Amino acid sequence: MARPGALEKLGLRTVEDLIHHLPRGYEDRRSFRPIASLREGETAVLRGCVASVSRQHLRGNRSYVLATVEDATGRIDVRWWNRPYLLKHLPAGTDLVLSGRVKKGCLTSPEHEIVRGDDPLHVGRIVPIYPLTKGVSGPALRRAVWVALERALGEVSDPLPESIRGSRALPDFATSLHDVHFPPDFPALERARARLRYDELFHFELAVAFQRRRARARHGIAFRWSAEVDRRIRARLPFALTAAQERAAAEILRDMQAKEPMNRLLQGDVGSGKTAVALYAALVAVANRHQVAFLSPTEILARQHKATIDAILRGSEVRVALLVGSTPAADRRLRLEDLAHGRLDVVVGTHALLEPEVAFGKLGLVVVDEQHKFGVAQRASLIRKGVRPDVLVMTATPIPRTLALTAFGDLDVSVIDALPPGRTPPVTRVVRASGAEAAYAAVRDAAARGAQAYVIFPLVAESEELDAGAAEEGFHRLATGPLRELRAGLVTGRTPDAERDAIMEEFRAGRIDVLVGTTVLEVGVDVPNAAVMVVESAERFGLSTLHQLRGRVGRGRGAAQCWLVAGRLTEEARARLRVMEETCDGFRIAEEDLRLRGPGEFFGTRQHGLPEFAVADLARDFETVKQARSDAFAMLEADPRLAAHPRLREEFLRRFRGKFDLYEVG
Ligand code: ADP
Ligand code: MG
Repeated sequence: MARPGALEKLGLRTVEDLIHHLPRGYEDRRSFRPIASLREGETAVLRGCVASVSRQHLRGNRSYVLATVEDATGRIDVRWWNRPYLLKHLPAGTDLVLSGRVKKGCLTSPEHEIVRGDDPLHVGRIVPIYPLTKGVSGPALRRAVWVALERALGEVSDPLPESIRGSRALPDFATSLHDVHFPPDFPALERARARLRYDELFHFELAVAFQRRRARARHGIAFRWSAEVDRRIRARLPFALTAAQERAAAEILRDMQAKEPMNRLLQGDVGSGKTAVALYAALVAVANRHQVAFLSPTEILARQHKATIDAILRGSEVRVALLVGSTPAADRRLRLEDLAHGRLDVVVGTHALLEPEVAFGKLGLVVVDEQHKFGVAQRASLIRKGVRPDVLVMTATPIPRTLALTAFGDLDVSVIDALPPGRTPPVTRVVRASGAEAAYAAVRDAAARGAQAYVIFPLVAESEELDAGAAEEGFHRLATGPLRELRAGLVTGRTPDAERDAIMEEFRAGRIDVLVGTTVLEVGVDVPNAAVMVVESAERFGLSTLHQLRGRVGRGRGAAQCWLVAGRLTEEARARLRVMEETCDGFRIAEEDLRLRGPGEFFGTRQHGLPEFAVADLARDFETVKQARSDAFAMLEADPRLAAHPRLREEFLRRFRGKFDLYEVG
C-alpha cells in the first residue's frame, strides 16, 4: 500500500493528477516465459516463486543478494547488486514477476514486483510501470491510477473538438487515457500516445498563438521607407546583397513598415551575411529618426560590429557608439546621457546595454545577435527600454524545425539559406590526439602560403580562470613545439581587453599566423584569410559550437580545413564528431544536435520557455508539431477566446494557468 503522503510527494493529489501521471514504460505480462525456455542474452518477463535467497559476500566489502526463482519448468539464479534490503523483502515463498536480461545463465538486477494471486490488474495484461517514489509500490500506484480512471473516465468529455479528432484520426480522450495506462495491445497504446502527444503540442501551440495574437494586437512603430532611403543605404554597403539576403531584407522591411511591432528571427549559417541585413534594417530605423540598439554576446563581437558599422558609415552623420563592460566610467556616463537625449543613433554593446541605467530617447529597433546566448528575460529587458520597438533576433545556430515552431513559435522567421559568393566549405577531419601532428602540419602549411589558422581549446570548467589556464598551457606546448616557427597569439577570457584588442587587430592585419584561444572566439570573428581551424579536445564541444567554430574558416576563396582533435570518445561523442565530418549543412547539424541531446541541452542552460513534454518528443515529432500548430492557429483565428469550446478552454487553463499571462482566456 501507499504510505500516507507518499502519493502527494509525487504531486498526485487528485484524480486528475493520477490519470495524467503517465507510465515510464510497460511490461508485457500477457504471458510469461517458462524459465526452462530462456535463452542466453534475451530480455524476458517471467513469473516464479523464490525458492531460496541469501547474501553473498565478495572481497572488498562488495556483496549481492542471490535468489533462486522457480516456475513449473525450471529454476534460474537472480542477482541484485547493492540492494541488501531485498534479502528481507523477498523471502523464500514470495511470488514475483521478474523482467530483465539473461546473462551467463543468470538474471542480473532485473526489475521485480511481488504479485499475490492472479490479480488481473497486475498479471495477464500489458502493465504500466510508473516513475516511483519511496513509499509507493508499483502495484499500489497502479491500483490508485486504475481507481482514478474508473472514477473519472465515465464523466470526462473530450476537450478536443470533434472536427480536429476526425481530421487527424485521433482516438477519443477517455479511450486514450485508459489505453495509455492499461493498453489492450501495443497498437492501441501507440494510438493513445499519438493522441496525447497531439494534445500536448496542440495546447502548447494554442498558448503560442495567444501570445502571438496579443503581441500583434498592439500598436508599434510604422517605419517609413522610400526608394531614396533604399538607394542611400545600398550605396553604403560594400557589396550587392545576395538573393537570400534580399529576401530576408524584404521580409524585415515589410514588418518594419507595418504598425504591428516586428518580432522576427533571422536565421542564417555563420558567415551567411546576417549582419549586413541587420544593418540595412538599422539604417531604415535611423532614417526615421529612431535609435537602434545592437546587442552582442561578447565584447569581441560588439567591437567587430562597431568597426563594420563605422566603416560603412564613414563620413555620414549617423552617430554610433559602443557600450561594453570595459567602457571607462566617464565615457559610459557620457554615452548614457547621449542615448537618453537622443544624441546617439546606434549603440552597439553587450550585456552592459541591459543595465537599468541605460535609457533611450527613442528606441525604434532592437537587434539581438546570437540570440541563444541571451535568456528571454534579458531580451525583454532591452525591448522594454523602448515603446514597442521592432525586434530582430539573429542566430547562426540553425534552429531545428520543431523548435522553430515551438520555442520560437511566436516569432516570424526569415532564413538566409545561401552563403555569399566565392566561399568554399571546409573539409573536416577527426583525428585522435596521437594524430594531432597532421593538424599542426596543416597549420604550418597554411602559414607557409600566407594563410592563417585558429587553434581552439575547450572551456573545461565553469571558471574563466581555469579555462584560461588550460589554454595557456596548450599555447605554451604549441608555441615551443609544433608551431614554434610561427607567429602565434593567445586570447582567453583572462586576457586584458586592451591586449586582446591588440592581438585581434594583429591577427586581422595578418601579422599573426595562428590565433590560439578558448571559445571566446566562438561567435562572429571574421577574418577571411583564416583557412585552418584546429579544435583541441573536440569531444567536449556540442555540435552547434563546433559548427560555429568551423564557420570561422572558409570565408575566403582558398580551400579551408577543420581538424577536430579528439581525446576520450564516448559513443555519443563519436556520433557527434562523425556528423561534423559528414556535413557542413547547419540545419542538418542542428537536427542531429537536437536528436542527440534533446531540447533542454540544445539550448544550454538558458531559459527557453519550453515546458517538459511528457509524451511529445521535439526531436522526432515534427509532423505532429506542424499539424497541431496549424490546427491551434486556425482555431484561435475563428474563435479568439475559445468561447465555442468551453471544455477545450477548461483543459487549456488546467495546463497553462499561471504559466502564461492569459488574460484573454482566463
Ligand atoms: P553573419 O553575420 O551571418 O555571420 P556577416 O554579415 O558577418 O555574416 O558576413 C560574413 C562576411 O561575408 C563578412 O565579411 C561580410 O562582409 C561578407 N558578406 C556579407 N554579405 C555579402 C555579400 N552579399 N557579398 C559579399 N560578401 C558579403
Ligand atoms: Mg513595425
